Amino acid sequence: MDTTTEPAQRSGRAAVLRDYGADFEVKEFPRPDAEPGGLVVEIECATVCGSDVHAWQGHLAATLPITLPLILGHEMTGRIIEIGKGADLDSVGQKLEVGDRVVWAHTPCGRCHECTVEREPVLCSKRYIGYLNDCSVPPHFTGSFAEYGIVRPAAGRIRVPDGVTSGWASAGSCALRTVVRALSIAGPIDSADTVVVQGAGPLGLFATALLSLHEPRRLVVVGGPEDRLAVAREWGATHTVLVDPEADPAGRIDEVLDITGRGASVAFELAGAPGVVTEGVKMMARNGRYVVMGTLGGEPQPVHVATLVSRGISLRGSMSGEIGDYHTAMQLLDRYRTRFDWDKLLGNTYGLDGIADAMAAMRRMDEIKPVILPARPRG
Ligand SMILES: [Zn+2]
Ligand SMILES: [Zn+2]
Repeated sequence: MDTTTEPAQRSGRAAVLRDYGADFEVKEFPRPDAEPGGLVVEIECATVCGSDVHAWQGHLAATLPITLPLILGHEMTGRIIEIGKGADLDSVGQKLEVGDRVVWAHTPCGRCHECTVEREPVLCSKRYIGYLNDCSVPPHFTGSFAEYGIVRPAAGRIRVPDGVTSGWASAGSCALRTVVRALSIAGPIDSADTVVVQGAGPLGLFATALLSLHEPRRLVVVGGPEDRLAVAREWGATHTVLVDPEADPAGRIDEVLDITGRGASVAFELAGAPGVVTEGVKMMARNGRYVVMGTLGGEPQPVHVATLVSRGISLRGSMSGEIGDYHTAMQLLDRYRTRFDWDKLLGNTYGLDGIADAMAAMRRMDEIKPVILPARPRG
C-alpha cells in the first residue's frame, strides 16, 4: 500500500458551524469506510434549503435537541465512491455502481409505531436527520456542505436519472419530494378545482409546476417578490397575487375569493410567514382541503375553528417525504425538464468558504436556491 498518499485521499473538507449565526469554519475530517448496506459519496452538488437557514440562525435548536458543531446542508446529490456490502441496488431495485449519482433520505428507526403500524416513516420521532447531528464525532460527514457524504445502511436511496442535473436533483431531494408528499396528502385534483398556493419560494414554485399538470380551473399563487410570481405564471399559475408584507391581508383574501369565485377548494401553505395560516383558512371554499407545510416555527396563529366546522374545511399538516416521494421527484424532474426550466430555481454557486454568504443571500430572498459546490477550489 502506498502510505504516503493514503492520508490525503482519506480525509475531506466540510464547512462547520460552531456558533449560531456565525461564519462557518472549513475543517478537515477523516473519511470513514462504507458500512455494510451503506454508501460513501462525494457531494457533487448541494442546494440551500430554508431549514438550513433556520438551523444556522439557531431557530431549530429551540425545539430540537441539537448539539453544535454542525455541518449543515441536506439537499444534495452524491457520486458514489464506495459501495458497502450488499448495497448494490437502490430503493427501487436499480443497480448502483461506483460513479453513479444518488439522492438519499433521512433514516427512520424502523422500530416504532409510526414506522411500523402507521407505515409513515416520515413521522418517526427517532429519525436520523444527518445535518442536525454533532459532526465532531464519527462518521463526521453528517451534512452536505462537505466534500463527502455518508448514506447509512437503513437510509432509502435513489439513483439520479441521467437527464436530471445534480442541481435539480439536489433541490428535488428536499423541496420537490416535500411537495410530492403534500400533493398526495391533498388527494385528487382536477379541472373542477380552484387551487391556491401560498408562497412563491422553492416549495411554492415546485408545487405550482406539479399542480399545473392537473389542469385545475384556477391555480392562484399568492406570494412574492414579482420575479418569482413571473416564474409561477410561466410554470402554470393562472393568476398571481403579490404579497405586500405591510398591506392588510384582507385585500389579498378578497382578491383570491374574486379570482376563485367560491374560495380555494384545495390550498397549500408553503410560505411559513407570520399569520399565513390564519389568512389561508379565510381563503378556503366550503368542503376545501388545506395542507399546511411551510410553517415550522414562529408565533402561534389564530384559526377560527367555527369556520372549519361550519364550512367543512379539512386542515392537514405535511412534512418531508419518504423514499418513494424522492423517486417520484426524480421522475418528474426528468419527464418535465423541457416543460419547466428547473434552472430558474437555482441561484449563484458558492464553495465551502462561501456558505454564510449563500445563507445570507437566501435569507434576503436575493436567490431562490443558492448552489454549493463543495469541490470548488477556494478563492
Ligand atoms: Zn429542506
Ligand atoms: Zn421509527
